[in-house]
Amino acid sequence: MGTHSSRDVRRASRFEVLHQIYALGSASRRLLAAASGLSTATVATVVNELLGRGVLSEVAIEDSGGGRPRARLAVNAARGFVVGVDVSETYVQIDVFDLALRVRASDRRSLDAEHNRPDDVLDRIEQGVAVVLAAAGVPRCDVVGVGVSMPGRIDRVGGVSVLAPNFGWQQVPFIRLLSDRLPLPLYLDNPLKAGTMAELWFGAGRRADDLAVVTLGTGVGAGFTVGGTLVRGTGNAAGEWGHSTVVLDGRLCRCGNRGCLEAYVGAQGIMQHLREYAPDSRLLHDGDQAATVAALAEGLAAGDETAEAVLRQITRYLGVGLGNLINMLDPTVVVMGGWVTGLLGPWLVPAATATAARHTFDPAFGTTRIEMSALTGDPISLGAGIFALEGFLAGLGVSTSRDSARHAAAIATTTPPAF
Ligand SMILES: [Zn+2]
Repeated sequence: MGTHSSRDVRRASRFEVLHQIYALGSASRRLLAAASGLSTATVATVVNELLGRGVLSEVAIEDSGGGRPRARLAVNAARGFVVGVDVSETYVQIDVFDLALRVRASDRRSLDAEHNRPDDVLDRIEQGVAVVLAAAGVPRCDVVGVGVSMPGRIDRVGGVSVLAPNFGWQQVPFIRLLSDRLPLPLYLDNPLKAGTMAELWFGAGRRADDLAVVTLGTGVGAGFTVGGTLVRGTGNAAGEWGHSTVVLDGRLCRCGNRGCLEAYVGAQGIMQHLREYAPDSRLLHDGDQAATVAALAEGLAAGDETAEAVLRQITRYLGVGLGNLINMLDPTVVVMGGWVTGLLGPWLVPAATATAARHTFDPAFGTTRIEMSALTGDPISLGAGIFALEGFLAGLGVSTSRDSARHAAAIATTTPPAF
């Protein structure tokens, strides 16, 4: 028991130190101690270990005003590269990152309802990875891992897409298929988990350990961290917040149930509000969610009465969903992201915050804040890259969480060796 708990403390300390360096960019040992709350002795031990494994490097000597010079530490960006892949319903986004998780090159290929079989997705990933590595001048042998985010339910340890209803996939052994084309350490998870990891490392998680990361797009979902740890649930399916019932016997949802939150605040639900309120509205672009939501944003900016009525409908339901979520989890921050939030956020977030206050036990939310995501770029491919980074670090014996250590052990037995 004794060794177990000291190992846990060491692992937690490593995570804290790495997390702070990623958040700060570079830092002295003293700043790391102050930012992480760890003792200077613990920081010194962890930093020496990470320097020894080549994960960190000393980048510059800081002039400390005539006193002893102090080294600044940073991630050794050239130690290796990770690739993040975001498979969405309409595109495949691929980014290659250095070990400091800075984007070195990107590629995006379209996907549509006629081209979403496993081979179509695998083709795009294989081609896109070749393109980004060539553009960044990174040889494949320098890639230490590839993280892939796939919509739907994922068995991450087995690398299986268990259920992707919008692709019509069931039990697709995705990582086994991809490893035939990309013989590298591969990691699979879904966008709710990836987006939450991106917020945890680079967004609101730099200031808070308890997050709810809400995604509004064609699909609606959430990811949670508690005490800085991603919540997965028993079957890695935690976060299907969009399929919580807000109206008994309500609208039919894409999942087959009725009255789900997604059917009222997802892009299709938003179009349905508009169809019901003003079927002849020029804001409605039938069959084109993105154009309709963009037209709504323009309408709101111009004070259009129809757009404002639709916003009220969305926020009625979104307020219930957010209120339920806050009542259950009491997070420090609710971060709102996804492409619908990207377009409607400036109107949607304040209006939904006001509505949510009517559905929470404490209308002042206690200490919870609701805010828009401040991440730039594609947070999903970034989060997928973080999964690959965690796997790489765990392989070096630098596990950043209990979860990543366990996953690395499973990957080691399922992934063919890189060559
Ligand atoms: Zn549903």
